[in-house]
Amino acid sequence: MRAIDVHVHPSTRGLDCDACAYFRRELNDVPTTEEEFAELFVAQQVKALLIGWHPSTVKDGTRNSNEYVIELVTKYPAAFAGVLASLNVGSQPVAELVEEAEALLKNPAVKGFKFHPPDQNFYPNDKKHYELWELLEAGQKPVMFHTGFTVLGANQDGGKGIGLDCGRPIHLDTLARDFPRMKIIAAHPGWPWQEELIGVVTHKKNIYVDTSGYLAEQLPELFQRAIRGRLQDKALFGTDFPYVDLEKALVSFDKLGLKDAVKEKILLSNARSVFAL
Ligand SMILES: [Zn+2]
Repeated sequence: MRAIDVHVHPSTRGLDCDACAYFRRELNDVPTTEEEFAELFVAQQVKALLIGWHPSTVKDGTRNSNEYVIELVTKYPAAFAGVLASLNVGSQPVAELVEEAEALLKNPAVKGFKFHPPDQNFYPNDKKHYELWELLEAGQKPVMFHTGFTVLGANQDGGKGIGLDCGRPIHLDTLARDFPRMKIIAAHPGWPWQEELIGVVTHKKNIYVDTSGYLAEQLPELFQRAIRGRLQDKALFGTDFPYVDLEKALVSFDKLGLKDAVKEKILLSNARSVFAL
């Protein structure tokens, strides 16, 4: 295996066309059948973690769901390493979320959870969600939160109702303080708050970061320096497929000129240890 991609959305459901336009992604290049989607990862010798969340901006077609990505993992074990399940934090009573999370934690395909605070309109460190975080911390599954800019609603009137503030990296800082045994992954380099993100990931041992949403050579310079050095044990390779192409992401990652040992950590062994794969 060449890499673990910790940040993959199924291209077969819930594809956001504004996001594809933002990334100038040719829709013809995006696999639309499950077989093609799985085959792409097998061909690149990459195993993906599939995200079960459905963006609020996508109204058409069948919804993506935890059940659906769990089914994909079961059908295509050579392509997919597991699932990052999602829950309707922010719009559903916490007691219901706890019940759903309890069931998901028992499923061996579920390797962690993924939330999108700007799109789901909640603050990760808001105490009203703490009962859920207590359960996830006790369940020992890492929890990923989108940070920084989002392509959802980008260049749309009112950002399609999405506010960026919920995605500021600083909100993960007090969360990590209050849940020191919860492994937290900040998704993306946190732009335009990349310095804030690096500060938080450097200070809190239980916060990690993924490289997704960018070709590696386009990552903020400061972020590239951080993952080359102090954060090399805390950075995880991720694409944000289908918005970023897997093959291009791998080629670009090679161009960072990282030492082999550092490259191996970021592509593979950090993810293995964080998600217990
Ligand atoms: Zn994503």
